[in-house]
Amino acid sequence: MDYLYLPSAAMTGLRTRRQHTPTPNNAGLAQWLEHVLGKYEAMGPIPMLGSMRILACHAAMHPDTRAALAAFASHTEIEWVGDSDYYYWIQIKKRWTGSEDLVIIEQDIVITSDTLSEFESCAEPWCVFDYWLAMGKINTGIGCVRFTAELQREWPFDTIFPNPVKWDVIDAGIANCLMPAGYSPHVHGTVDTSHEYDVYLLPHGRATWRNTGAPANGPGRPGFTPTAVPPGSPRLRVRNGVVIERSVYLQKYGPALLTT
Ligand SMILES: [Zn+2]
Repeated sequence: MDYLYLPSAAMTGLRTRRQHTPTPNNAGLAQWLEHVLGKYEAMGPIPMLGSMRILACHAAMHPDTRAALAAFASHTEIEWVGDSDYYYWIQIKKRWTGSEDLVIIEQDIVITSDTLSEFESCAEPWCVFDYWLAMGKINTGIGCVRFTAELQREWPFDTIFPNPVKWDVIDAGIANCLMPAGYSPHVHGTVDTSHEYDVYLLPHGRATWRNTGAPANGPGRPGFTPTAVPPGSPRLRVRNGVVIERSVYLQKYGPALLTT
């Protein structure tokens, strides 16, 4: 039944060719296989595209994110996780196998033509592009990150997470294991996010924020609101660390406040 082996031999032939011993009555197929493999060998090394798995989970993927994935990472595995707080964790666990590098792109991140090639060409175990949240950048998030297969083997998923966790603490769970062990995120630059935040300026120089635009990776819950916002508080809408909209109060009096 050698012929049943043929498709996979053709796909992986450069590595298994010498192990493929044709039977006498299979000489025609063997000859054809030699011919095909000879052509592949003439093309030079096959790019190791399959060695880097790309996962994009979403509860509501931003169109800019989807377009960028289609343009620059068409083999991304896009998974819906909006039906449970735990589905994001499950999807990452399924791919944290130690056999392939794992790239995670979140639903509001807009990659460029360079993002994946930066990851592919770097030998560091934990590579990221940082990105803006409401009031600062984060480089320990999993919005745009690559964990090497070797790192996954050193840190099996069950070691990091003995129990399932919700979508919004996965990044902290990983960082809280890796950083005490001496790892730090290797930052390749800043990637754009389509996420927008409303930042409210409160009395006594305090501020708080709410999500706007794309919801978080969970099942579309309202934005995190750690502090009550008094009615009429000055408000900024920010994206990628840039103010894109001011409340009426700030349009009149804002510049002085913004610089403090
Ligand atoms: Zn790197």
